[in-house]
Amino acid sequence: MRSCPLNCTAVKQQFRTCSRITKDVNQMSRGYPCQSILPGILPDYDPNDNEAGMKILEDLTENVYQIQQRVLEEIITRNAHTEYLEGFLNGQYEKELFERKVPVVNYEDIKPYIERIANGESSNIISAEPITELLTSSGTSGGQPKMMPSTAEDLHRKTFFYNLLVPVMNKYVDGLDEGKGMYLLFVKPEIETPSGLMARPVLTSYYKSNNFKNRPLNRFNVYTSPDETILCSDSKQSLYCQLLCGLVQREEVLRVGAVFASAFLRSIKFLEDYWKELCSNIRKGHVSDWITDSSCRKVVSLILSRPNSELADLIEHECSTKSWEGIIKKLWPRTKYIEVIVTGSMAQYIPTLEFYSGGLPLVSTMYASSECYFGINFKPLNKPSDVSYTLVPNMAYFEFLPVKKNLADTEKEAVETVDLVDVKLGQYYELVVTTFTGLYRYRVGDILMVTGFYNNAPQFRFMHRRNVVLSIDTDKTNEEDLLKAVTKAKHLVELLGFLLIEYTSYADTSSIPGHYVLFWELTNKGSNDLLVLDPKIMEECCSTVEESLDSVYRRCRRKDNSIGPLEIRVVKDGTFDALMDFCVSQGSSVNQYKTPRCIKSEEAINILDSRVVGRFFSQNAPSWEPF
Ligand code: AMP
Repeated sequence: MRSCPLNCTAVKQQFRTCSRITKDVNQMSRGYPCQSILPGILPDYDPNDNEAGMKILEDLTENVYQIQQRVLEEIITRNAHTEYLEGFLNGQYEKELFERKVPVVNYEDIKPYIERIANGESSNIISAEPITELLTSSGTSGGQPKMMPSTAEDLHRKTFFYNLLVPVMNKYVDGLDEGKGMYLLFVKPEIETPSGLMARPVLTSYYKSNNFKNRPLNRFNVYTSPDETILCSDSKQSLYCQLLCGLVQREEVLRVGAVFASAFLRSIKFLEDYWKELCSNIRKGHVSDWITDSSCRKVVSLILSRPNSELADLIEHECSTKSWEGIIKKLWPRTKYIEVIVTGSMAQYIPTLEFYSGGLPLVSTMYASSECYFGINFKPLNKPSDVSYTLVPNMAYFEFLPVKKNLADTEKEAVETVDLVDVKLGQYYELVVTTFTGLYRYRVGDILMVTGFYNNAPQFRFMHRRNVVLSIDTDKTNEEDLLKAVTKAKHLVELLGFLLIEYTSYADTSSIPGHYVLFWELTNKGSNDLLVLDPKIMEECCSTVEESLDSVYRRCRRKDNSIGPLEIRVVKDGTFDALMDFCVSQGSSVNQYKTPRCIKSEEAINILDSRVVGRFFSQNAPSWEPF
């Protein structure tokens, strides 16, 4: 193998001060092994070296402009001859041309290209690097998950990103190397596309990769869950085994968590249902017989190793108390924080997490997606409402579509994008990415607000996702899909002579799992008779709505059990007038008033709830197939 004639470290040093040099470096390093490491773009360093990690973060945030230029140049030069880019750029590269000719797109615009790859055409349609898998997003298109292209190299980019989280956490919390993390991580179903490419969620892809399996077991990567339990495809066995391992190793646990708050709380609920059985396993030193996944059974049995009645008594004592307030701290007494994403739609879970946590900090470390990993929270101990993410400038080329705060639909705005270094404090933007994996000027759909700067890198608060009204777990239901589902369901009551005159919704997370609630105001067609509703028909309405929602909702509801049965609350005559009066009293204009299709204000929910005349729940989980 040829070795690279360049000393990459030296090159990186130069790169920090001079972006022009990188162009030469780029050309010189072509064809040499270190090309895949992208000197300067993905610097190579020892992830166990905290100081080196901090230094990299300083460099990345100091040299945002240069790095972004370099990233764009690299992406364009590499992919100039793909069918997609050649169509716009004719093989040329100039930033100005890129911005002028390559359109800002939505998923629907690129879907045909991605489907062609899924059906066996060459990756070269969109990417010079072979597309090695398709990452199924929780955002959907036509009811199915969107599929984002990914490459082998992208796994290294993700590993680089994960490694950067370590020095940040170590800066704020001491002694993390003296124990383990109880992280409840899961894989989700995957399918093979006609071309043989796997289509699966981004984290499933990462946990199954060699990057995860062969991660250096440094202080940050030591988990109580053996990989076999994380990779177990039966989510119930997986969770049971992970909790068992976490309880057995409770003295070593320094931090607990899951990716999203919803998954963590679901695990706590599972613990509420299964703690007696878990204690019995610990007492006997025997894993329950229903754990039939042989590799899980084997590793968990090794960890359980012997009967331990003392530990079983202790856990039993804590779990049998009437209130589970502060249970996390009681079961895992050395825990320093709970690592779960609690920003965006996950903020609805903060009160419940606070109840269980016993005052532990809630830490949202990162902001990422199937398209690309975006940003890091540099102040992990900040309270959730103050969390901002600093976009890491070597992950992708970032642009921003300015958004007017009160304009619900950004599609109406024909504005130009702004570069990462040009965003303005306090302004709202929609994130647009150009990735190393074949997405060009792609609208992610997330609305962010600039809250400050770290060195030269802007920091963003995640505000909301464009046009999402309901979300419990990874589901993202928009107004249009909700309307379609309600329209289908309302036919059932129309056949009985009722009319649906208004509806709205909210995500009820007061119990675990949370569920969708629809408020319906019904009237008798042509008469003032009292409403007499047939519960069977109303339950069927609930099921029809569920059946009409997209596949991510149906997967969460049927396969993951992370969403409970949908509920329709029928409200009495005049309720929506009362809602309008309330909204107007809060500042809505009477002329422009439109019924909000999703309610977040507690007061508004109380107005609706106080007028409920009937509650009905879906009796069947909706159908779901991987695709
Ligand atoms: P997916 O494509 O299914 O991986 O979902 C990615 C989306 O999840 C992002 O585009 C955001 O809308 C949301 N998301 C990811 N990380 C965060 C975070 N830290 N805070 C709020 N929302 C997030």
